[in-house]
Amino acid sequence: MRYFFSFLRRYLPPYKSKVVITLLCNIASAVFSVVSVALLIPILEIIFQQDSEVTTLLPWTLDSKVVINNFYYYVTSVKVTYGPGYALLFSGLFMIIATMLKCGMAYAASYSNVGLRNNMVRDIRREIFAKIVSLPVGFFSNERKGDIMQRATGDVAEVENSVMASLDMFVKNPVLIIVYIASMFYISLELTVFAFVMLPIAGSLIGRVGKSLKRQSSEGQAKMGLLLGILEETIGGLRVVKAFNAEKHIVDHYSKETQSYCNIAKRLSRRRDLAHPMSEFLGTIVVIMVVWFGGTLILGGSGTLFFSDSDNALTVAKFLAYLGIFYQVINPAKNFSSAYYNIQKGMAAMERIDKILLADDHIFENADGTPIKHLQSGIEYRNVTFSYNGEIDVLKNVSLKVPKGKMIALVGQSGSGKSTFVDLLPRFWDIEKGEILIDGVNIKDYRLHDLRGLMGNVNQDALLFNDTIYNNIAFGVDNVTQEDVERAARIANAHDFILAQPEGYQTNVGDRGSKLSGGQRQRISIARAVLRNPDILILDEATSALDTESERLVQDALEKLLVGRTSLVIAHRLSTIRNADMICVFHEGRIVEVGTHDELVALGGYYKKLHDMQAL
Ligand code: ADP
Ligand code: MG
Repeated sequence: MRYFFSFLRRYLPPYKSKVVITLLCNIASAVFSVVSVALLIPILEIIFQQDSEVTTLLPWTLDSKVVINNFYYYVTSVKVTYGPGYALLFSGLFMIIATMLKCGMAYAASYSNVGLRNNMVRDIRREIFAKIVSLPVGFFSNERKGDIMQRATGDVAEVENSVMASLDMFVKNPVLIIVYIASMFYISLELTVFAFVMLPIAGSLIGRVGKSLKRQSSEGQAKMGLLLGILEETIGGLRVVKAFNAEKHIVDHYSKETQSYCNIAKRLSRRRDLAHPMSEFLGTIVVIMVVWFGGTLILGGSGTLFFSDSDNALTVAKFLAYLGIFYQVINPAKNFSSAYYNIQKGMAAMERIDKILLADDHIFENADGTPIKHLQSGIEYRNVTFSYNGEIDVLKNVSLKVPKGKMIALVGQSGSGKSTFVDLLPRFWDIEKGEILIDGVNIKDYRLHDLRGLMGNVNQDALLFNDTIYNNIAFGVDNVTQEDVERAARIANAHDFILAQPEGYQTNVGDRGSKLSGGQRQRISIARAVLRNPDILILDEATSALDTESERLVQDALEKLLVGRTSLVIAHRLSTIRNADMICVFHEGRIVEVGTHDELVALGGYYKKLHDMQAL
């Protein structure tokens, strides 16, 4: 429960006023509810023809005794003048008004509660998304995408339910229970003391069931995350599934996991559903005990009325009203116990959400970092050693100087560390050994935003968003005009094919750009880089996924893009980097050869070997 309170401390403060409103409305509603039940007493007294006539009107004050006395006075005068039937109607009218106020206030309370609840959930959603965006890329290589999605959706929904239940529990039910119990004490002290000896016994039984609920709930959500993951991967990789005739395999896998989710969910619901029948059953036992005890008090004529001076005996009418109020207590008490269960479930979900929210942003934004708008002299990697998980060094003591305005090509076998090398520059990963300098200053000392603003990136798989071509090109750049976008598209050799699309620049590209060909996607991502007009350009096998025809178009676009910039170009096909100012050959995490194309061919080492292989 401590975790639950810290959760409230985190998300409740902005909505203090809403909490107060809900609380006040609930108090009012509880008071009117008691009044409406208490009005049963005069009504029953009229019916039972009990002598409760009052003939003196006291001067009005807010004292409850005066109010009750005067109410009886008016009931008596209606009864004397018009007969008992009208007296009943007269009391009934008050009961209707009290009930109306009770219901109205209850609605006002839940009205305000709805605002509170949804605002809190919106805040959590926003916080998760902002956190996902700010977390380093490395965080996600250890997580399943489906599970992350489940946390951001399913777990948040679970928290919403628990918040709803819990706010009821903390704002509404205690108020109701206190008001009801106070009035029960008011009617009969002995009976109420007796009833409350019984309740803790029932409460402890209910608490026992709730214990294992939290762990099971967490298991259930994790399983759901797994299911979402399979779903996501399958939709994304449907072509592979079909091509390998793996439908049956993957369907079996999915049904196995759904079965195990189904089992957990059943266990969970059944246990949670125990709350209601159990509290109802235990509640009935308590009620019967109370009826028995109250009945003996009446029959023995020895019941005392607390605070009451006129009539000491517990009358039948009062006892029935007492039972009426007692019955009202049972509902909030029941809700109290199911709220407890829901909180257990909700907090399990919140813990899963916190795995994201409280995750360490390894790459800390340097708040008072140096601003940088343009590259002045160059980039330098100095004795950089890097490993992804602290085990195998993927880069081993690598040093490289990239002077401003030069094109540096990186070549080497797959897995030799080229992509890792360029990913370190925008700080997708942070290094511990060695340093990377831009204009002689460690990149960690710059503002992260400025640092990344210096570079443009074109990768092997051009990642487009499910949006229009225009928005994909203008992505992340403020204040762009149609002309800017078109100019960028022309440089990227994309303008013509974009115009040929059904809606030109406003054509939607589909999920991840699936409505376009690989070369078209690539040229849009080049246009995106052109529009940013970065000083440093990083190309990671930008053409290797393309056929020769579109490669030529893309290559041509890239060459226009490279003019006048400092660039790191990873190339699969050596022909594309023949003109590089310098070529670095990577081998098993080291730079083993450096030079121009001609120098390296003449050297007869790794580069010559790669070159000869491609010449074949
Ligand atoms: P290249 O781009 O030269 O083909 P990479 O830089 O992608 O090579 O990979 C270098 C090595 O780092 C490979 O052995 C690869 O298995 C490993 N590696 C790449 N990305 C990750 C990652 N996110 N987590 C762990 N290891 C990785
Ligand atoms: Mg690579």
